[in-house]
Amino acid sequence: MYWWQSVEAALENLGGTASLREIYDEVQRIREVENASITMSLEANVRKELEYNSSDSANWRKSRDIFFSVNGIGQGVWGLRSAVPENTFACDIEEPENLKPSKRQEITVTRIIRDTAMTRKIKALHKSKCQICGETIPTSDDRGYVEAHHIRPLGKPHQGPDIPSNIIVVCPNHHAMLDLGMIGLNLDLITKAIGHDISDASIAYHNTVVAKTPVYKDDH
Ligand SMILES: [Zn+2]
Repeated sequence: MYWWQSVEAALENLGGTASLREIYDEVQRIREVENASITMSLEANVRKELEYNSSDSANWRKSRDIFFSVNGIGQGVWGLRSAVPENTFACDIEEPENLKPSKRQEITVTRIIRDTAMTRKIKALHKSKCQICGETIPTSDDRGYVEAHHIRPLGKPHQGPDIPSNIIVVCPNHHAMLDLGMIGLNLDLITKAIGHDISDASIAYHNTVVAKTPVYKDDH
């Protein structure tokens, strides 16, 4: 068993993305089961194989492109390219023109397609599961469908940053609830993933600005 195959198998067993520590342990376990050689430099070998087989790395050998680095999102976290969702439906909702519609007024919300390489990697880190409820929408490619929400919204009037710490991965229902300001966010109750930290400032912004001015007011 080649080392790159061990690393690929380890990431498959770990759900597509994992920290280096988890990858080392799983590679060791796999190679023990396979009676493959385990050197003193297992950790260096694993890192080398990740870099040789990833176009994200300056050390890429250009034969295989199996892994992606989450560098820039989190340190020391790697994933399988095959685990990154390829859907182009991921959305962000732009703020409606009128934030305070009267009761019977219809509002039009524009969903713009915003499915960047960065958001796809973050979705992969969360195994395409909603960070609030854990749900995913099954898809035919087995990657699952989930959306990326900018907690402090992009554009006017909020001017949120397009960075990983301002993004939360959510199901469409929770995406809509967040956009509409109908729910608050509690960092303690959100599912975390190694390599993706959410900013306290973004959470505070959502709770104090977005959720305090819900698009739909509760009439009851
Ligand atoms: Zn959800």
